[in-house]
Amino acid sequence: MSRFWSPFVKDLVPYVPGEQPKLSKLVKLNTNENPYGPSPRAIAAMQEEVGDDLRLYPDPNGERLKQAVADYYGVQPNQVFVGNGSDEVLAHAFHGLFQHGRPLLFPDVTYSFYPVYCGLYGIAYETIALDEQFRIDVADYARPNGGIIFPNPNAPTGCLLPLDAIERLLQVNCDSVVLVDEAYVDFGGQSAIALIDRYPNLLVTQTLSKSRSLAGLRVGLAVGHPELIEALERIKNSFNSYPLDRIAIAGAAAAFEDRAYFEQTCQQVIASREQVVAAMKALGFEVLPSAANFIFARHPRHDAGGLAAGLREQGVIVRHFRQPRIEQFLRITIGTPEQNQALLAALGGLC
Ligand code: PMP
Repeated sequence: MSRFWSPFVKDLVPYVPGEQPKLSKLVKLNTNENPYGPSPRAIAAMQEEVGDDLRLYPDPNGERLKQAVADYYGVQPNQVFVGNGSDEVLAHAFHGLFQHGRPLLFPDVTYSFYPVYCGLYGIAYETIALDEQFRIDVADYARPNGGIIFPNPNAPTGCLLPLDAIERLLQVNCDSVVLVDEAYVDFGGQSAIALIDRYPNLLVTQTLSKSRSLAGLRVGLAVGHPELIEALERIKNSFNSYPLDRIAIAGAAAAFEDRAYFEQTCQQVIASREQVVAAMKALGFEVLPSAANFIFARHPRHDAGGLAAGLREQGVIVRHFRQPRIEQFLRITIGTPEQNQALLAALGGLC
């Protein structure tokens, strides 16, 4: 800490990202990346972009990408916002859309960036306990609030809230923004984008880091009523008018255009997930129902910290959160069939 830091910076508690080790021999199942590469069409589009045009600024509005997202979801481009990873899109939403004076509500077990943004933007919050089965009960959110946010499927549990439950929540909560963070929705959920025309306070965020396998490119988006999108644009243009570079705009648009590759790779991940779940249950694990590209599991007789350490010794990295209520769980990303086999073989030796 330096004496030149402002008191504000001294008090910040930043987010701690999952470990990003050099891959060499490791089976990396700790940060929910896609085991399959990005769409070949996306790679070609990015390669095409690398040339003399890089001397020019990119389109500040990323129109090509907005159009591709709008076409994919059957919405208008003015209902789409794009940014540098959904983390940045979320940051702008926290900054510009949640009211002060009443607390923001989110689950007690959820994406750990939410309290960090609350600290950064001075937003008061209340956490709402998940039920005994680690599910969100929307009835618990029917109370005065300055906004509501949750991932669907939730992270790190993987549990999915059905669309009708989200609609019930929107029917009783019309005075503040409900933000559904759909980072993992393509692995088994139904997008709440289907509801945006009926609920002007609904904002849905998504990322290209998971189902479109472009975590390294840093592209995320939000879809909602044009007035919500306009607020995000104002915040963005007061911060960095060019959040997406030329390569990112081209690659992300092409990834959205390549539906066939996207659907095929998502299906592969889903099929592998079901195999891993069955095999882990056979090893005695309790596995929460997952609609994501990861599973959340605990063993009744083995300590999660010990299992994570044992896996690591065998070159398999998974995520273990030392957090109340979930410290006995491991979060394991679904990998290629070979990676999943390595995981299961290592677990077999430990359990
Ligand atoms: N939301 C959730 C629930 C996540 O798990 C993640 C990934 N860590 C993100 C948002 C952010 O993803 P990105 O910034 O890569 O788009």
